[in-house]
Amino acid sequence: ALTAGIVGLPNVGKSTLFNAITKAGAEMANYPFATIDPNVGMVEVPDARLARIQELIPAKKVVPTTFEFTDIAGIVKGASKGEGLGNKFLENIRQVDAIVHVVRAFEDDNITHVNNKVDPLDDIETINLELGLADLETIDKRLAKVEKAAKGSDKEAKAELSVLEKIKPVLEAGKGVRTIEFDEDEMPIVKGLFLLTSKPVLYVANVGEDEMGDPESNQFINQIRDYVKDEGAEVIGVAAASEEEIASMEEADKAEFLEMEGVEEPGLNRLIRASYKLLGLETFFTAGGKETKAWTYHKGTKAPQAAGIIHSDFERGFIRAEIMGFNDLDKYETHAAVREAGRLRQEGKEYVMEDGDIVEFRFNV
Ligand code: GDP
Repeated sequence: ALTAGIVGLPNVGKSTLFNAITKAGAEMANYPFATIDPNVGMVEVPDARLARIQELIPAKKVVPTTFEFTDIAGIVKGASKGEGLGNKFLENIRQVDAIVHVVRAFEDDNITHVNNKVDPLDDIETINLELGLADLETIDKRLAKVEKAAKGSDKEAKAELSVLEKIKPVLEAGKGVRTIEFDEDEMPIVKGLFLLTSKPVLYVANVGEDEMGDPESNQFINQIRDYVKDEGAEVIGVAAASEEEIASMEEADKAEFLEMEGVEEPGLNRLIRASYKLLGLETFFTAGGKETKAWTYHKGTKAPQAAGIIHSDFERGFIRAEIMGFNDLDKYETHAAVREAGRLRQEGKEYVMEDGDIVEFRFNV
C-alpha cells in the first residue's frame, strides 16, 4: 500500500497531527488497528459523494476507502551525516511514497522551538537541505560507478550519466529534484535512484488553535506558499492541537465545536484528501445492494485492474464495465435517468478509470 510520511523538525506538532490521524482512524469499524506498526496509521478518506450516492441508491452499508500515514521521527540538522539517528530517518523517508512536511506556524512561548524562533521557512530549508545532501551523496556514488562505463559504448550508462549530470547542479544549488522536468526516457532512470527530494511533497503549516477556524489568516502561510512555489507544492494550514482534540470528541460535541468555529469539517479532512491526491490515488465506487463502497486505485489504472482490486476473479473474467460518472448520477438522480440521458457507458479492457466512476463490472466466472 502507498503511504504518506509525516516529516518535520522536532516540536513542530508531528506527533500531535499523527495522533489526530490515528484517533480518527481508531474509530473505524473492522480495522484491526492494534495489530499494525505504531508508526503507521490508517485513515478513512472523507468523501461527501458517498452520502449523496447513499441518498440516491440506498444500500445496507456505506464503506469509505482508507489509506496509510507513517510517522517519521524528528529529523535534525546533520541527519545526512548520520547525526541523531539521521540515517535511520532518511531510510524511513526513503520508504514512503509522498512526504507530508509539517512546519511550525503557531506561537507559544511554552513550547521551545529547536532553533529558538518560529520561522517556518527556516524549518523547511533545514529539512530540505538534509534531504538534498543525502541525495547528493546518492548521485555522487552513482556517478563514480557510471562515469567510466559511459566512456565506452554502454548506452544505459550514458543515459544515466546524463540524468545524473542534470540533477547534480540543481541539488548543489539547494533545490530539490522535484523542481526538474524530465522527459519520458529520463523518468524511469530518476525513479530508480530513489531520491528523497523527488518524492511529491505537501507542506502543512501547523497554525495556532485560535486560527483553527481560519488557517488562511495565519501570518506565515502566504510566505510559505511563496517559498515553495518552485516545487509546485501545495500548502495547507491545520491546527494540529485542535485536530487532536476534535478527533477524540463524540459526534455531537464535534458538530457543535465545528459550528462554533464556523467550519464545515475538521481541517484533518483537508489534510487527508490532499495527501491522498499527493499519492496519486483516486476513487471509484460500487453502489447499492449490500454495500456502497469507495475503492482506491492509482491514477491511470485500466478497468480490468480496477476490477481486480475488488476480486481477482473480476479481473480474470473481465468482460466490460458499466459506468456512470458521479456527476451524472448527482444530476439525473437515478440509474434509469442516467441511462435515458445516454450517460451510462459501456467500457472495455483499455478504459482508464476516472475519479468518481460508479461501476458495475461484468465478468465470466
Ligand atoms: P513533534 O516533536 O513534531 O512530534 O511535536 P509534538 O506533536 O510532540 O508537539 C510539540 C509540542 O507542541 C507539544 O507540547 C504539543 O502539544 C504542542 N503543539 C502542537 N501543535 C500545537 C498547536 O497547534 N498549538 C499549540 N499551542 N501547541 C501545539
